[in-house]
Parts: sequence; structure tokens; C-alpha cells
Amino acid sequence: MKYEPVIGLEIHGELLTNSKMFCSCSADYGSAPEPNSNICPVCTGLPGAMPVVNKKATELAALVGLALNCSINKHNTFARKNYYYPDLPKGYQISQYELPIAEKGFLEVNDGSENQLNVRVRRVHIEEDTAKLAHEKNYALVDFNRAGVPLLEIVSEPDIRTVEAALDYATKVRAILRYLGVNSGDMEKGVLRFEANISVRPVGSDEFRTRTEIKNLNSFRALVRASQYEIERQIKIYEEGGTVVQETLGWDDAREVTTSQRSKEEAHDYRYFPEPDLPPLQLSDAWIESIRSQLPELPEAKTARFISDFGLTPSEARFLTSERTLADYFENVVAKSKSPAKTIHSWIAGEFMRYLNDSGLSIDDVTLAPETLAKLIDMVTDKTIGASAGKTVLTELFKNGGDPAQIVKEKNLLQMTDVNAIQEIVTKILNDNPKEVDEYNAGKETLFQWFMGQVARTTKGKADPNVAKELMVKGLEERKK
Ligand SMILES: [Zn+2]
Repeated sequence: MKYEPVIGLEIHGELLTNSKMFCSCSADYGSAPEPNSNICPVCTGLPGAMPVVNKKATELAALVGLALNCSINKHNTFARKNYYYPDLPKGYQISQYELPIAEKGFLEVNDGSENQLNVRVRRVHIEEDTAKLAHEKNYALVDFNRAGVPLLEIVSEPDIRTVEAALDYATKVRAILRYLGVNSGDMEKGVLRFEANISVRPVGSDEFRTRTEIKNLNSFRALVRASQYEIERQIKIYEEGGTVVQETLGWDDAREVTTSQRSKEEAHDYRYFPEPDLPPLQLSDAWIESIRSQLPELPEAKTARFISDFGLTPSEARFLTSERTLADYFENVVAKSKSPAKTIHSWIAGEFMRYLNDSGLSIDDVTLAPETLAKLIDMVTDKTIGASAGKTVLTELFKNGGDPAQIVKEKNLLQMTDVNAIQEIVTKILNDNPKEVDEYNAGKETLFQWFMGQVARTTKGKADPNVAKELMVKGLEERKK
């Protein structure tokens, strides 16, 4: 029997606010000088302390809801999710249950075979992050600096049928959060975490079988590996005639296995009830529209525009729009350059990214001005310099800055376009290497690259390659016996 997975994703992202969700402590817990220094009676859950809703967090949450095509609930409420764990000082987490701030959205994703599908977004709700535990040998330490930091939970419907689609969904949500500036997407710091709900069923069936939930997946790699592992584990259980147990699993990154953490709670285990210390949030149409007006052009729309305006292929456009700063950089270069947008894409996707990857830099670290890169690319386009000289200049610009024309002059990189001069070099190479000429003309065609290599060596890569190639073909032809 063939099985297919049924996957739903929950994405937890901290919101980039100045203060915590219900108190005025700093949300930038990473900058706290020492454990438990960034706390107050509210976020440590002292009796009588009263929470106050963070206005900025509600704005950012609504922005995310709108970006994910959700409707905003003008009346939404906070609820207590009761459970006891040492990282939860109040014994309950303030969350949203019956009426989240946003629900019923969707996101278009790719299933790994160029098919698009709509993954429905069930809900987007606001809650608070927990404290951090550090487990020592015989005891554990609790640091409340993170407790109460605003957290957004984005819950999809179980519409995902392949691991590739799950990865694409998660990648797109992360890109949207970064576009909106609500989350840095820095998964190494744990500001964005995934949870996957997974079950499998025979292909063609529409039943929903028992699912398991894999918690705290802290990288795309962990999401992919854990999902693959869990799908195979469940299929094996069914094939051996067993039953899958509903439970919460952890992912062991080192051993690459899922491990049982506890039997899965149902919603009623949390005894949700309306938070008595917080009034419902009442949002006006005008407020929602003002948030909507802040929506930037999102990755999907930008991709479509890059394809139609710049003649890029979908994958070229998707690469450039994967980061808002990269897309902006590309557009700035296009605006300053006379070269085709396609050429500019090639430079950015090629040499430019190679340099960043090799140096461990991100697009946000780039100080090279778009107009400077535009100047350099134009010099290659108008054949002032050759492509390999262009690469040399780009490396120099990244390392020491400067002006492309000046660097070309200093390094003597001007392209040789004088046909007579190139002819002279080609003729000399052919005359100096009669053995290779005979071998080539006897059928050893791979030698052509060797001849071109001699041209590049003699001219230090400055000869116009098209001219050199043409003359070389002609010269070899003339020497055929
Ligand atoms: Zn506090």
C-alpha cells in the first residue's frame, strides 16, 4: 500500500517589539546583563500583578494576519491556558483561544513538483513566551528574562501533503515575517520555531488518522529531517499492523530520531477560560485599514512583478525576492544601470553571492553601493573590460571599495578589442604549436579550449573572447591539410 503524509504546521515567532507582551520590561532579553535581571512582578507572575496589552504587538500581529490573507476579528479575546511547568511562572500562559486576532487565511505554496497549492491558515494568535530552563546535573536553573516576550502563533490547516510543501510553507512564512519586519527569522537564536503535526494515510483516502506533534524544530533542516523520519516511522507501524499513538515528540538533532516526550494533551486538558484581568480587544475598521495600508509589497507579488517587468524566469525572480533587502538592492542596481536586468541578475546571483557566501556575509552587511555595482556591470556590458576582469574588479570593490573605472586603470584591465592586435596573438600561438594544430585538425576537438587558454594567458584574459574565438576557428581551419 502507498501512503501519503498529512501535515499541519504551527509556527511560533517572537514579535520585534520594544517591551514584553503584558509589562514594560524589555523584549530584547538577549541584551540582558545577567539571568533574571529583565523581570518585574507581571512577567514573573507575582500575586496581584496586572497585565496590560502591548499595543505594538497587536499591530504587528494584525499585520501578519493580513499578509497571510486572514480576516481580522474586530472583537478578539485573551484566554488562560493552564498548565504547570517551571518555565511558566504564573502556572498558565496568556494566549488567545476562542477568538484569535486573525483567522481563515491562506498561503500559496509549491509542493516540490512545480504544482501550486493553497495551504489554509487556520489562525494567527498572540501569546507570551516562556522562561528558559538550563538543566544541570541534579537541578535546573530558570531564567525569566524571556518570560512574557510577545509571541505569535501561526497555525495551518492539515493541508500539506509533501515534506517539500511543508518546507516551502515554512520558508514563505519566514520570508513574510522578515518582509514585515516583525521577526528577524534568526532561527539559531530561537526567535522562530516550528512544530509539525503529522499523520499518514493510504493514498486516495480522505480520513485523518492519529497524528503526532513534533515540538521545537529550530531549523529548516530539522523540520525536513524530523518530518521525513516521522512519516517513515508511522508507515512502518501501519505496515506491521500496529497503531500510531497520539503523542508529543521531540527531535534529537544529533541522533536524527524523534523521541516520545509525553502523551499528547487535548485542548480540554488546558482548561482554557477567558483571561479575567484583560478586557477583549476591540478593533475598529479604521484601525484595521491603517494597518493594511502599512503592508509592503510581499514576496509573491514582488516575484510576479520581477517576472513581468524584468523578463526574469520564476526561479530567478524567486531568488531575488527571497529577502526584501536583496530585492531592493537588485532594483537599485537596475535603476542606475544601462545593462539588461537579466545581466544584473546574473551578476548578483553569481559573483556577488559567491563573494558573500565565501566571506560569511549577508546582504545586510553589503556596503558596496548599488550605483558602483551598476557602473562595473555596465563596463562589462559595453566591453570596456572582459567578464573575468569584471570579477577581479568586483572582489577589489568588496575588499577595499573605490571606483570601478579607477581600478580598471590601475590594474590595467582594459579589454583588447583591436582585431589586428588579437589576430597577431592568435597567429603567433598557432605558429608556435604546430603539433597541437595537427592533432586538433585530426579530430582532437577538446584542444580548442587549450588554444583559447593560450590566448587568455598571453593577454592576461583581456582579449575580447568572441573576437579571439572567431579568429582562432578561422586560423585552425586555414591550417587544415
Ligand atoms: Zn516584566
